[in-house]
Amino acid sequence: MKRAYNFGAGPAAIPTEVLEIAQKELLDYEDSGISIMEASHRSKLYDNVHTSAIKNIRELYKLPDDFEVLFLQGGASMQFAMIPMNLYKGGCVQYANTGAWSKKAIKEAAIQGIVPQIVATSEEGSFNHIPKVNFDDDCDYAYITSNNTIYGTQYKEFPKTSSPLIVDASSDLFSYAVDWNRVDLLFGGAQKNAGPSGVTIVIIRKNLLDRVEESVPTMLRYKTYADANSLYNTPPTFGIYILNLVLEWIKGKGGIEAIDKENRVKAKILYDAIDNSQGFYIGHAQKNSRSLMNVSFNIKDKNEQLEAELLKEAGEKNMIGLKGHRSIGGLRASIYNAMTLEGVEALANLMQDFAKKHA
Ligand SMILES: *Cc1c(COP(=O)(O)O)cnc(C)c1O
Repeated sequence: MKRAYNFGAGPAAIPTEVLEIAQKELLDYEDSGISIMEASHRSKLYDNVHTSAIKNIRELYKLPDDFEVLFLQGGASMQFAMIPMNLYKGGCVQYANTGAWSKKAIKEAAIQGIVPQIVATSEEGSFNHIPKVNFDDDCDYAYITSNNTIYGTQYKEFPKTSSPLIVDASSDLFSYAVDWNRVDLLFGGAQKNAGPSGVTIVIIRKNLLDRVEESVPTMLRYKTYADANSLYNTPPTFGIYILNLVLEWIKGKGGIEAIDKENRVKAKILYDAIDNSQGFYIGHAQKNSRSLMNVSFNIKDKNEQLEAELLKEAGEKNMIGLKGHRSIGGLRASIYNAMTLEGVEALANLMQDFAKKHA
């Protein structure tokens, strides 16, 4: 069997150990004679998985009691619409525009007739840094994208504001300890750092649940999910099962602090390969905005021919998913929690050899 080093941005690598457990349990889950994906979402069998996933999220994130953990569908993209739908009260809503995903979120607020205020943007520098963000303290909400998956930039610290802070953490879920004093709603699709596509995790402060108007459809209200423990209708049961296995795997690694430490080591190896290449590789992100999750870079003079050659050589060495997003070209190594140190070292070695050969 061949397991590639998968540097894809999402859906992305899932720990091999997790997939092996899922494989082993696929036909007969815990002696039930059925697969977990064949189990009723109202059964005890599934309920244990559901409860465990919520408990593990609370435990790993050290979540205070005044937060709810919700499982939704529709991806992070549906959250772009649900956030204004549930939280807008006629006041100001403010956004930091740090990339394509922020822009889409801003657009969804505008569609609803709201006038979103852009308090900071890095668009003029092709989103190569996290700008200084100052939110007002009396808005309906303030919104950031913690990790910008395409450009490889990431907040080192969340902005401080008395407005409820909303964080799109789709591409850095469960990769560092979150300061919940600063956050009121944090969400993300599971498919980058936490499991398969199909599950969206929403962590919301309870005091935000009652804002929603009667005119908002049932399935688009956070309150519906909170009141029914995310079992109002059929949740994505198999996705939540895999998510739970990933959370157990993180616990086995020593929790989020241990994962964070390892992620820093992994990212440093690749950024060192860029910084020590004497200008052969050019990182997209400014140094103080660099992401620990997505390392986006070009070869000098945006040499597309050499970039294609590097991608090809990587593929021959079993490293896949490295093509950069079309908006900035080049290469992007997504090194989420599941990417091994071994995989990162293999890529750094290839980058060094390639630079030597072509400098
Ligand atoms: C991938 C991504 C999204 C979109 O996620 P979907 O689940 O496909 O809707 C949104 N925000 C960020 C930061 C992402 O990386």
